[in-house]
Amino acid sequence: MNLRPLLFCLALLSAAAGCAEAQEASPPQGAAPVTAIRAGRLIDGSGGPVVENAVIIVRGERIESVGPAAGAVIPGGARVVDLSRHTVLPGLIDGHAHPYENLNWGVPDAIRMGYIAQGMRISLLSGTTTYYVLGEIHNMDIVARGLVEQGRLAGPRIYPSGHWILTSRGPWGEVFDETYDGADAIRAKIREQHQAGAHHTKLMLEDGAGSGNNFTREELRAAVEQSHALGMKVTAHAYGDAVRVAMEAGVDAVTHGNNLTPETIDLLKRRRSGIVVTHTIDFQPYYPERWRVAGQTTNAKEWLQGWRDVLARARREPSVERAFRARARELTALKAAGVIVAAGTDNGPGLMQIELEYLVDSGFTPLEAITAGTGATARLLGIDQEVGTIQRGRFADIIAVSGRPDQDIKALDQLSFLMAGGRDLSGLSWK
Ligand SMILES: [Zn+2]
Repeated sequence: MNLRPLLFCLALLSAAAGCAEAQEASPPQGAAPVTAIRAGRLIDGSGGPVVENAVIIVRGERIESVGPAAGAVIPGGARVVDLSRHTVLPGLIDGHAHPYENLNWGVPDAIRMGYIAQGMRISLLSGTTTYYVLGEIHNMDIVARGLVEQGRLAGPRIYPSGHWILTSRGPWGEVFDETYDGADAIRAKIREQHQAGAHHTKLMLEDGAGSGNNFTREELRAAVEQSHALGMKVTAHAYGDAVRVAMEAGVDAVTHGNNLTPETIDLLKRRRSGIVVTHTIDFQPYYPERWRVAGQTTNAKEWLQGWRDVLARARREPSVERAFRARARELTALKAAGVIVAAGTDNGPGLMQIELEYLVDSGFTPLEAITAGTGATARLLGIDQEVGTIQRGRFADIIAVSGRPDQDIKALDQLSFLMAGGRDLSGLSWK
């Protein structure tokens, strides 16, 4: 209930006639607030060129219109945000997120939620407004989504997967707390997760160390069929030949996807699929540095610079740099073939900018990298009707930076505006 007209009337005890007027001037109760954003430069996430001088109208949690500033009609009562000296773009999507960014299963869920809250806040304040989760223990992603939606936790919009789907064969059985063998067990687990609120399915198809596919053909078919029957897409963790196996089984997208052959790249292209590329996970041995950096930072710029320093040190090791260059050549081949290249951190809170910097380092233009971190990820993962681009009907998940990230990708660390679901969160503090 909006108390303002009532209070206004009480203040005008001797002028009862004015009350009706004051109430009429207020927006109707429950009306969605309207914001008009003046964008000096707009990158809409679709891959199109930068548009100069645009106006975005946000009504409630969604974008109502986007168009040239000349001739734009700003609705009466709209709050105007002047970003005419800034570059405006969609909030970044982490296409491979794990809210609990740790494989230490010995931690109680209550403490785990503390970690999740810290990581999600860092991500949001670094411009990541969507987490597409690819595996989470104890459905903590579904719990966290609810807390974000209730406004109790500051964090990205979450598309949860619930627990990873994996078999006891292969090395993961020792790492993860639950495994599912046989088509029936896999179908039952996917139905259970759907019931609990999972949005899609994450398969741990293989281990990345050449042990091959850990699923029988029947199990894989069951996972894909059951997910699709429930309207859930399937993303598989896969490298090398397991990417081919995933594509042939009807899996919708692959994450990691290193060690590809030309035949596999062709298969990805024919299936109009793609890969959620994950660079920073390759630097996992340096992760203990993460929370040392976090403890010393007070904003996204410092956080990202701290990480650039850690990764630059790592890349002084010749074998690390060689692996990076080999990966860069693969990404160039994927791009040339027209395979969708999406991006994710695989558990690096607030590190999407680093992922995009690494895509540029791998031969992408800054604009192509930004598309990979927004519209392309949304398209590959089937959430493009809701997020990833600045267009009519999408959630108003919008960021701005003071520089020109389409010319220098590092300018993405100069965040000057943050809106999620139509709420201006620019005033949110790092700690
Ligand atoms: Zn992962």
